[in-house]
Amino acid sequence: MAIICSICGKKQSGFASDYPLSSTHLQERICTDCENRKQKCIVSSRSDFEKYKVCKEEFLSFVSENVSSSVRSGIHQIVSECDSHFQEHENAVELKNQISNYMMTSGFNFEGWRITKYIKVISAETVLGTGFASEFSASVANLLGTETDKFAKKFEQAKDSSLNKLISKAVDLGANALIGVDFDYPLIYNNIIAVIASATAVVVEKAEE
Ligand SMILES: [Zn+2]
Repeated sequence: MAIICSICGKKQSGFASDYPLSSTHLQERICTDCENRKQKCIVSSRSDFEKYKVCKEEFLSFVSENVSSSVRSGIHQIVSECDSHFQEHENAVELKNQISNYMMTSGFNFEGWRITKYIKVISAETVLGTGFASEFSASVANLLGTETDKFAKKFEQAKDSSLNKLISKAVDLGANALIGVDFDYPLIYNNIIAVIASATAVVVEKAEE
């Protein structure tokens, strides 16, 4: 029985494999080419960010004009999920940039700069959700790559988020630098870990030679 791809409309021979559009649209079948383009779109949105825009465009360029509204909503669902993964990555990158452009140190001075004003000690926290600690200890116990990586990444993001809040506070106080930057990881209740960043907000100016 010939199958018509519900994305591109191409007629498939009875021997060709076909795939469901998505887990919520199992009845709508798509051809191997569309499936490959869809997979590339999904994978790039999660791990190969450089290619995501191109993969998404390519995937969408094969959507025939007369697809049914159900197929259209299925495609929309796939793409918006990809977009949100991609956006998460973009936000993390932006956070990193903001952080890396601000003057801060775990020490108490900057070479070539003079501290002209100590404003105050500030801190900012990010809470890692319920279940994190128990999942984390479980994954430490069996120390197998991907899970541990995932937690390390989550931790790293929480650190960045705390630092970013710290920087916002410093900027609000009129500081242009942070000294004595330090992190603390208190365990709140059983399963909730917080990442607290603290530092002294200061004003620095370039020292004269
Ligand atoms: Zn197709």
